[in-house]
Amino acid sequence: MKRFFGLAFCIILIILCCSCYDKTKEPYKEEIFAMDTVITITVYGEEPQEKIAAASREIKRLEALFSVTNESSDISGINKNSGEFVKVSDDTVALLKTAVEASELTDGAIDISVYPVVKLWGFTTGEYKVPDDKHITNKRNFVDYKKIIIDEKNSSVKIEKGMELDLGAVAKGYTSQKIKNILNEMGNTSAIINLGGNIETVGKKPDEDPWTIGIQYPNDSNYFSTLELGETSIITSGGYQRNFEENGIVYHHIIDPSTGKPADSGIVSSTVVCDNSAMGDALSTALFVMGKDKSIDLYRKYNNFEFILLDENDKVYVSKGIKDSFSLSQGYKDLEVCIVE
Ligand code: AMP
Ligand code: MG
Repeated sequence: MKRFFGLAFCIILIILCCSCYDKTKEPYKEEIFAMDTVITITVYGEEPQEKIAAASREIKRLEALFSVTNESSDISGINKNSGEFVKVSDDTVALLKTAVEASELTDGAIDISVYPVVKLWGFTTGEYKVPDDKHITNKRNFVDYKKIIIDEKNSSVKIEKGMELDLGAVAKGYTSQKIKNILNEMGNTSAIINLGGNIETVGKKPDEDPWTIGIQYPNDSNYFSTLELGETSIITSGGYQRNFEENGIVYHHIIDPSTGKPADSGIVSSTVVCDNSAMGDALSTALFVMGKDKSIDLYRKYNNFEFILLDENDKVYVSKGIKDSFSLSQGYKDLEVCIVE
């Protein structure tokens, strides 16, 4: 009898434990390699595999449209047929419109037609070289976002003969926004997408806590600060992400279109928080090029984003809209922080 009660007690305990365990509160995570980067999608809730499979299909679909190295992509079509209108998908039109809008806002600090210059430095192939000024000037003649003509009604795009586009500075933001839409359509209310450093948060965590996002310190792999946020996108650009060294000088992959050389604005990492992920991606690249003062001017004019800038002297500039979400991490508490109103 005693043994029977013991067994019954154990069974009840197991049932109680199982009912406490809610699998919708457990994250399900998958890694996908696409768009030249590692993409991590973490989903809470029912049927996470199905949701991630749908997200993965969307990533592949958009990569096929946007990739500059895929011969049959929309972007390759535009580049190969420069001087003529080329029919493209609605997604390409939408992303090009955002990229051009960002160029207009930032006076060309981000310019997707900078591709011929990016190629010259070898950032597309990994065969890095420091080009001479004559070659840079030659290629810079083809850089001008104002010569990207978008005919929205006919879904066609034309660039001037010799120009070439690359969506590397904006495509990840657009893609993560699209993944968010798909997860929401599938009834998902809680997920986090990390697209090679572009973070998209979907809903809140199941326990209703905000998401904690770490911002990498450029010269080590630690987080120098964290942000506690709800649903939004958080995008960081930094020269530490891709670069090469020649004769003791480090040359990174973010080019200032006005010089044709790696941007030298004094900013080593720029993070943008923006509900429009494609615009946030464009702006993070732009702020890196523009530097602190111009970035602050833009912030005051166009108050649709927030930012964290880290400069080469370890000074951190945080815009006022995220100041309460921001904290310095352990080991970086002595960095000077300046709140930008
Ligand atoms: P991101 O990591 O979003 O800042 O984008 C950087 C990538 O965009 C580089 O690897 C280049 O392919 C491209 N790129 C570099 N400089 C610029 C620029 N000023 N405007 C637009 N695209 C750029
Ligand atoms: Mg970007």
